[in-house]
Amino acid sequence: MTEAWVTLATNDDYARGALVLAHSLRRVNTTRKLHVMITNQVSVRLRQELEAVFDAVSVVDVMDSNDPENLALISRPDLGCTFTKLNCWRLTQYTKCVFLDADTLVVQNADELFDRPDFSAAADIGWPDTFNSGVFVYAPSLETYHRLVEFAVEHGSFDGGDQGLLNEFYPDWRDLPSAHRLPFIYNMTAGAFYTYPAAYKRYGKDTKIVHFIGAQKPWHGSSAVHQVPLS
Ligand code: UDP
Ligand code: MN
Repeated sequence: MTEAWVTLATNDDYARGALVLAHSLRRVNTTRKLHVMITNQVSVRLRQELEAVFDAVSVVDVMDSNDPENLALISRPDLGCTFTKLNCWRLTQYTKCVFLDADTLVVQNADELFDRPDFSAAADIGWPDTFNSGVFVYAPSLETYHRLVEFAVEHGSFDGGDQGLLNEFYPDWRDLPSAHRLPFIYNMTAGAFYTYPAAYKRYGKDTKIVHFIGAQKPWHGSSAVHQVPLS
């Protein structure tokens, strides 16, 4: 029984985020494996850096495979990056995984997430009846992967990304037993606290995983739009 944190970096830009994420997981002494999915757009240098800190690096390339799912995906290039994320369901060498966007940072040990059921995620702050797909607990399964791809090809994604797709695939998430609803401290969308600064002041120190949503990422330099919780 092997469990793993899984992330994705399709290019060097996100690979930098993934590197910091992996170091953050090491710093909090996680007992689980670290796995990063990359594409061949990631440079050799960044790939070597990833290999030094992740337990496993796997290359995914939706355009370069012969299986029928990937052929179907080619007909929807608009959803390229979304489909790349779906590859995480193929990692059946693990019994359970937590997917983390490359723009997340683990500030306190969060290994208890692996006790959560498949599928678990935290509410999206923009529309809390839906979940944010930057952090989710899932069980890898080829069957689920095939169903997801089929669903994606047929229905597309209402927001053009993986979040819209996954919310339609798990439409009853809001009404599932509470174990499936991750507390906000596991996907603290940095910047969110501006809408409720008193709550941030009161609960910010409990944050375990920060998520730097939006086009401007902390590794782009000036980071006035984000603030990391004080610990
Ligand atoms: N991603 C990637 N390459 C891209 C865009 C996205 O590898 O060009 C991956 C990466 O893991 C990223 C995730 O997909 O964290 C979701 O994108 P992003 O975090 O930028 O979306 P946001 O959380 O800001 O909505
Ligand atoms: Mn993100």
